[in-house]
Amino acid sequence: MSDYKFFDQVNKAFDKAAKYTRFDKGLLEQMKFCNDVLHITFPLERDNGSIEVIHGWRVEHSHHKLPTKGGIRYSMTVNEDETMALAALMTYKCAVVDVPFGGAKGGIKIDPSKYSEAELERITRRYTFQLYKKNFIGPGSDVPAPDYGTSAREMGWVLDTYRQISSDINAEGCVTGKPIGQGGIRGRTEATGRGVFFGVQEACSNKEDMKAIGLDPGIEGKTFVVQGLGNVGFHAAKYLIEGGAKMVGVAEMDGSIYSDNGIDLAKLMEYKNETGGVVGFEGTKTLENNAAVLEAECDILVPAALENQLKESNAPNIKAKIIAEAANGPTTSEAHEIMKERGALIIPDNFLNAGGVTVSYFEWLKNIQHVRFGRMEKRFEENSFRRILSVIETISERKFTDQELQFLAHGAGEEELVDSGLQDTMVNSYNEINEIRKKHDVDLRTAAFISAINKVGGLYERMGIFP
Ligand code: NAD
Repeated sequence: MSDYKFFDQVNKAFDKAAKYTRFDKGLLEQMKFCNDVLHITFPLERDNGSIEVIHGWRVEHSHHKLPTKGGIRYSMTVNEDETMALAALMTYKCAVVDVPFGGAKGGIKIDPSKYSEAELERITRRYTFQLYKKNFIGPGSDVPAPDYGTSAREMGWVLDTYRQISSDINAEGCVTGKPIGQGGIRGRTEATGRGVFFGVQEACSNKEDMKAIGLDPGIEGKTFVVQGLGNVGFHAAKYLIEGGAKMVGVAEMDGSIYSDNGIDLAKLMEYKNETGGVVGFEGTKTLENNAAVLEAECDILVPAALENQLKESNAPNIKAKIIAEAANGPTTSEAHEIMKERGALIIPDNFLNAGGVTVSYFEWLKNIQHVRFGRMEKRFEENSFRRILSVIETISERKFTDQELQFLAHGAGEEELVDSGLQDTMVNSYNEINEIRKKHDVDLRTAAFISAINKVGGLYERMGIFP
């Protein structure tokens, strides 16, 4: 990883945008720094009886709104710099999509594939306990969620541990991305990828912007490559395909594959589950390594793995017209400039992957309200629709079929409300940052940072949070 410093990269983008805002230097510095950085170590007794020391971090970047919010990552890349950068990105991301949280992030430096389920559970529970002891978790203080290498399973362990040591009536709101049976919300697992789709769809629907990069408007018929078929990459690919795009390339840990004719996602996932990788999938050609497909011919490139993937060394060869940053920090500042110079539209991470935190916000609201979305109004809505339809039947003398009635008089449940809230958030936020982009003649990343700085800085000014 050489001299790559992720937190510096985030701050470089911040500084570039700060020039377009009215805040003084001191306030801008305050916004950039991390309020609290926690490094913990604890022993793990492995299944074979040996003892290993585990390193974990939790960073709360900004307390301008509470609780702070951000995922927990399990990866060998985890360190203090990475966690600080990801926490800072969370602050800006929440501000861009108007989710009322401060930014945070957590991580444990492990390769989860090297541990048994029982060991992972012990690690997760001990990490949660340490966070609790230091006041780094709670529905009103700091709320984790899944990230790279973690899923609903780990979030279930976090909640269960928290509940054993706290009598908080809002305990369920201490973590999001939980299994539905433990207070999770429908749509959270797919939320980040779904949000990526809504963001890309909105960008592609703008005729003027598409013309500027030489593409036709709309998702239909566009080709894309995805790096990382995990939670975010898989769901982004699924919805892009459902929207009419063609997946022509995929990269996973074992290598990368390409096919002009398109790759069947469902069959590829079956193949990946069986073999553990994507290389050798029927009808595709295997490229020389897992980075090669990033440079393949396509309209949209979706990096959905880790940071520092599109860099000075490969950026000049990247051909995609749209870079859809599903991962956090996939593009270095140098690569950003190279691809921008070439005329690519870079849809930045601090907007594009905000679907996860948006639906986490809905989940947290559900938990602290102690009621499922739609529970109060679904039946009432259905009855109102039926009354309207019966008046229409009387006036028009036309009887609706049972199928039509079911379709037209359907009241919204949790799944539909979450999806519509997510779409609304991604569409509105895209148009907001696109307006800023045009106003200042900057790129979308700078526009997203301008939007975030104005919102966070404005709040600091109004609240006067200075001791
Ligand atoms: P995940 O662990 O579910 O999946 C990541 C996938 O990327 C894995 O399948 C892994 O094998 C693959 N991968 C890793 N390195 C690779 C490489 N060099 N080449 C090809 N494939 C590689 O993780 P995720 O939750 O999908 O997170 C992916 C990215 O999205 C991360 O940057 C994360 O911070 C970001 N993100 C995730 C969420 C979320 O809700 N999970 C929300 C916002 C942002």
